[in-house]
Amino acid sequence: MNIAVKDVWKTYGAFHALRDVSVEVPKGELVALLGPSGSGKTTLLRVIAGLEAPDAGSVLYQNDDVTQRTARERNVGFVFQHYALFSHLNIYENIAFGLRIRKWKRDAIEERVRDLLRLIQLEGLEKRHPSQLSGGQRQRVALARALAPQPQLLLLDEPFGALDAKVRQELRVWLRRLHDEQHITSVFVTHDQEEAFEVADRVVVMDKGRVQQVGSPDEIFAHPANDFVIDFLGGVNVFHGRVENGHAHLGELVVPYPEYSDQRPLPATAYIRNHELDIDVRPHGHSNLEARVLRINRTGASVKLNLAAPERDVTAELDHGRFEELGVRTGDKVYLYPRHVRIFVEPEFQTADLRSEALL
Ligand code: ADP
Ligand code: MG
Repeated sequence: MNIAVKDVWKTYGAFHALRDVSVEVPKGELVALLGPSGSGKTTLLRVIAGLEAPDAGSVLYQNDDVTQRTARERNVGFVFQHYALFSHLNIYENIAFGLRIRKWKRDAIEERVRDLLRLIQLEGLEKRHPSQLSGGQRQRVALARALAPQPQLLLLDEPFGALDAKVRQELRVWLRRLHDEQHITSVFVTHDQEEAFEVADRVVVMDKGRVQQVGSPDEIFAHPANDFVIDFLGGVNVFHGRVENGHAHLGELVVPYPEYSDQRPLPATAYIRNHELDIDVRPHGHSNLEARVLRINRTGASVKLNLAAPERDVTAELDHGRFEELGVRTGDKVYLYPRHVRIFVEPEFQTADLRSEALL
């Protein structure tokens, strides 16, 4: 089922929780709503579910306007961060609960619950109570319970938020596999970009009640739409400087900025990703930043270097091969060369995407 949210506004008193939000969830896709705490993710999910009425705008299920319909009528499955399992019911009865309410026949319930127990890999544990399961197992039961009445849409609000890192990681992989088998249209809320990028087909990045960007994980990573998205993705060095005369001045670093040839300086913010900052032991080419190596961390997939540049510290990530080739050690003087600089000029918000050809 396709879901469309159109021009939705939602206020709580004077506070705008959603500002003109439009989002599409294509049939069978798993879409993540990603953003910091308070950005409006839960509110949007509740509007999609029918648990919250928008002040303006509409919600369409398969081109059918359901804005005025209750959550019950919309037939959605819901999974929350905190296990909403019934502690006095065993696992079997927790999963069967929605089916009994809907007056399914005894045999049909038995078959459906058995199928779901198999799906969540908890066969044999159906007699246990929620308190006798691990956190990860409980969230799998919550998911089975949500899926039991065969909802048209599955909504998950930070479902793994209360679990430890290792279990979270396992459940992500498991959820993605489950989605690929079941093809149920799903919306997944998270504040964890790694989780969103790993699980979702499409990511909706939100901030302050607005949609900042919509795209596949690859698109968002390669072409972040604005400074909020870049900052939120992390792994970047942020430089504050100015643009004038066709150049951006970022401390000692000067890079071309042909978009602005005026003499009058404008404040600008530049973003250089850690892995787009190259290092050399000798100066070459155009502009560079001189820095000293403070710390080297070789334990990850890439080598992370903390560097003291003239006005600030920066971080660079090199692949192990390049690092070995350079042979740098803590305390060495090096030269930094950005391969890619993204510049955002205030207040015009003109942007430039400068690739290495322009920089080296
Ligand atoms: P998120 O899920 O992204 O953390 P929410 O959608 O829960 O964000 O909340 C967005 C903003 O709306 C928050 O600042 C929150 O305080 C406010 N808010 C949410 N629900 C209510 C409510 N029922 N009454 C008043 N303010 C609310
Ligand atoms: Mg929330």
